[in-house]
Amino acid sequence: MRLLFPKNCVCCQRVLPFQKRRGGICDACSPKVFFTGSYTCNRCGKPLRVPFESLCKDCKKRSHAFIRGRALFVYSGPMKMAMYRFKYSNCRYMGDYFGKVAVEKYGKWLGEMAPDGIVPVPMYEGKRRLRGYNQAEVFGRALSKEIGVPLYGDFLIRKKNTLPQKGLNHRKRQENLKNAFKIKGIDVKLNCVLIVDDIYTTGTTIDEVTRILLDYGVQRVYFLTICIGSDY
Ligand SMILES: [Zn+2]
Ligand SMILES: [Zn+2]
Repeated sequence: MRLLFPKNCVCCQRVLPFQKRRGGICDACSPKVFFTGSYTCNRCGKPLRVPFESLCKDCKKRSHAFIRGRALFVYSGPMKMAMYRFKYSNCRYMGDYFGKVAVEKYGKWLGEMAPDGIVPVPMYEGKRRLRGYNQAEVFGRALSKEIGVPLYGDFLIRKKNTLPQKGLNHRKRQENLKNAFKIKGIDVKLNCVLIVDDIYTTGTTIDEVTRILLDYGVQRVYFLTICIGSDY
């Protein structure tokens, strides 16, 4: 089985030694990969430049629609490569590994939150067809299996093929996402939703998705991403 399904480092793809058969990060990449630590923004979970502050620079400036969010890793070094590969080469084992890390790191938080659904940030349908999958959904599915909370991959759709948010200022980011998402309308009532995505930067996307869920009658919205930018 191991020869058929070798486990590779999520960052550099090197085959992992047998001891790391649960998947993960190789010894060469490990020192350059940073989990989000104890000093994170109360609101968005971004690692803080100044320890013991309660909010990051962004969250001090503007409020968010979601209650709170957390991330697994800092978006830097080999994790940037991992996120790129997770997006463009269909690597299910990566999603499984991130799902396991999520439970190890945030099992207690997720338990207290008790979401009744996991909703991935949707990808524009044309793009999804082209790539064959939405990486946020792959992560969501793995997490769903771990914590036994249903995944609603079709709850939302992305109506527009929006520009990449990277390089746009806050106002432009908001404009770019205006009317980008829509509830598909499935017959289920959700009170508490956990949004999942691959990377959190300024939160414009997650905020937009949150607003739509709140309009639809969801009471509480949280998020969990694989990576997050830092406050510095
Ligand atoms: Zn590696
Ligand atoms: Zn923050």
